[in-house]
Amino acid sequence: MARVAIITGGTRGIGEAISLALRDLGITVAANYGGNATRAADFTARTGIPSYRWDVCDFDACQAGCAQVAADLGEVDIVVNNAGITRDGTILKMSYDDWKEVIDTNLGGCFNMAKAVFPGMRQRKWGRIVNIGSINGQAGQYGQVNYAAAKSGIHGFTKALAQEGARAGVTVNAIAPGYIDTDMVAAVPPDVLEKIVAKIPVGRLGQASEIARGVVFLVSEEGGFITGSTLSINGGQHMY
Ligand code: NDP
Repeated sequence: MARVAIITGGTRGIGEAISLALRDLGITVAANYGGNATRAADFTARTGIPSYRWDVCDFDACQAGCAQVAADLGEVDIVVNNAGITRDGTILKMSYDDWKEVIDTNLGGCFNMAKAVFPGMRQRKWGRIVNIGSINGQAGQYGQVNYAAAKSGIHGFTKALAQEGARAGVTVNAIAPGYIDTDMVAAVPPDVLEKIVAKIPVGRLGQASEIARGVVFLVSEEGGFITGSTLSINGGQHMY
């Protein structure tokens, strides 16, 4: 597929798996990252996929980053809004900064990136936007009012933007992963993780490549009739 894709947070974890899966389809991939330059340099050295540093919370940086990718690689056809962070704590302990940072990164990043690429996609009558939500945005999670709100917001954002893109050939979908074996889940205390895994019907954590398969499905040329949907990939942990 002669397409150009940006994967935010595309240099490690789920984002890395998505970058590799789209590259393997023949798509030209740009992997964005936030600040971990060592990981990004290692990723680019291993894969040959160029990495681009900008903060998805920063509206102007998203405009400039997307323009740079377009200048280097061609007009952007596909964006996967994958960059995300957690700052967990019960509401009694959560600071305003913890709230704001998580909303700005996980949800604000989707808006900032869409603002940068949606007009061009509409003009060219083809586009694919995939937003990475979460099981915890669907079901809620103790100690995550910030993250659950941001991810739940992503699911609403997806359905609204899908309506705006539909006539112009731009599909907008979300994936809601369950617990996936990445750095983010490695930060969960082992005793808590053990209890989480016990609740997953398939009996294990998911792999990043299993989320990437979902992205491949949604961005395909044949995927033009799939829009506004949320694909849950969670080992059966939450069904609705
Ligand atoms: P990781 O923590 O492993 O990686 C996060 C990525 O996001 C990194 O590449 C990081 O860049 C990037 N990032 C973070 N903040 C910014 C920012 N402000 N601007 C640009 N890039 C940024 O996360 P996962 O791979 O585990 O998660 C990927 C996505 O999947 C997230 O949205 C997460 O919420 C979601 N998810 C994950 C689940 C899981 O179980 N792992 C479950 C459900 C959803 P850098 O390397 O520079 O820090």
